[in-house]
Amino acid sequence: MTPSLLWFRRDLRLTDHPALSAAAEAGPIIPVFILDDALLKGKWPSPNRVHFMLACLRVLASQLEEKGSRLIVRHGHPARVLRELVEETGATRVHWQRDYGPYARKRDAAVAEAVPHQEHAGQLICEPEDVLTGEGRPYSVFTPYRRRWETVPRRKVLRGPRALQAPDHWPRSDKLPEARAVSELPAAGEPEARKRLAAFVPKAKDYAEQRNFPGVNGTSHLSQDLRWGLLSPLEVAERCDASDTYVSELCWRDFYYHILWHHPRVVDHAFREDLDRVRWHSDGELLEAWKEGRTGFPIVDAAMRQLKATGWMHNRARMIVASFLTKDLLIDWRVGEKHFMDLLTDGDLASNNGGWQWAASTGTDPQPYFRIFNPTLQGKKFDPDGDYVRQWVPELKKVDKKHIHDPPLEVRKHLRYPEPVVDHAEMRGVALKAYEKALGK
Ligand code: FAD
Repeated sequence: MTPSLLWFRRDLRLTDHPALSAAAEAGPIIPVFILDDALLKGKWPSPNRVHFMLACLRVLASQLEEKGSRLIVRHGHPARVLRELVEETGATRVHWQRDYGPYARKRDAAVAEAVPHQEHAGQLICEPEDVLTGEGRPYSVFTPYRRRWETVPRRKVLRGPRALQAPDHWPRSDKLPEARAVSELPAAGEPEARKRLAAFVPKAKDYAEQRNFPGVNGTSHLSQDLRWGLLSPLEVAERCDASDTYVSELCWRDFYYHILWHHPRVVDHAFREDLDRVRWHSDGELLEAWKEGRTGFPIVDAAMRQLKATGWMHNRARMIVASFLTKDLLIDWRVGEKHFMDLLTDGDLASNNGGWQWAASTGTDPQPYFRIFNPTLQGKKFDPDGDYVRQWVPELKKVDKKHIHDPPLEVRKHLRYPEPVVDHAEMRGVALKAYEKALGK
């Protein structure tokens, strides 16, 4: 029987993989991964993400071997590589799962021209065409989007195939390269991700209460698993449906992909065109202090150091540091977006862009520009005992709860912890003026 090709991309799993199931049902399959330069060195190259992806691919290769199959790795441009593979193997069709960013769309359109193919849904819970207003338009506000999203019928979660049929001949495979991460990353691959999911399921009921506190281990830590498709979001939503708040977060994930699909210009521009006119400051020293966690605002510094050390940051902390960069330092959200993409293992164009534009008040459904987080008060509210700060800013380990988010000057001096790099009240005023000017107020 002639085989078909299964092109893995950011869906490095066997369970609930519609493209894999469809290909495997049709007969023998040849699983392929293409090391595309855009993936390894593209707009936002990241040692953490490349390392994690390669580690996931090694695990996937051994999972496939257990099923009687093999992962074929090739370097090059996908359209060329897949055309060659179709010619070499006589494959009838290439199956893959749909992706939504501008680069992926262009790449997939080129591949679709080059080879017989079938695209499958699987990266999201709902497809962009399924969540539209009564007039058939995309939503730009989350709450009505979520209401509509709830009503979309869902497909069944699929089991992974028990065995995979091998072709008569395997094409040659390149070796996976080695890559080093710059942070301490979670264990890679679907089986580890499934363990993380299983550990979180019984905790989902407490999610709504705990998720806002970066010092509490109250969120799922599944973002890198969803980013790389080690888990399917549909399965995660089903297994964690004890928490409506948790399912809502997965809905945000779909929402930002849909925004990217309908408005690809958000990649380089503010969603709100008027707020593309904000005159941002550029100050290398302040930017460096932010990146290194030396701003003198303990909660900001804890978060930035957590990012550097682990390639991950708590959501509340992401909101705080993004607000700080854009409103307290008045540095362009795109600069922060890039720094996150450099380090985050879960770094994802849609969610990262959505998160940054939300924090900078330039996006769809943004936080209004005049609501500016006070980093000290955010610290007091969401890290009330200072555990998060103490974990990531060891200089402040011995500072008592009362002062941990705002240590007095003499304490800072003694502990060699920096003074605040800006005056929050003053910068709040400067930011308000800059936004009002952009809006012509
Ligand atoms: P949980 O709280 O356990 O949430 C479960 C899952 O829901 C997450 O794994 C994620 O897939 C999804 N999710 C949760 N919150 C959001 C959200 N606000 N937007 C979209 N999806 C969400 N998330 C990324 O996956 N990649 C990014 O590059 C990214 N960049 C961000 C940048 C900023 C400035 C902000 C404010 C948020 C960003 N987020 C990003 C969203 C969110 O912070 C992370 O998904 C979350 O912190 C991951 O931890 P978790 O898996 O424990 O999340």
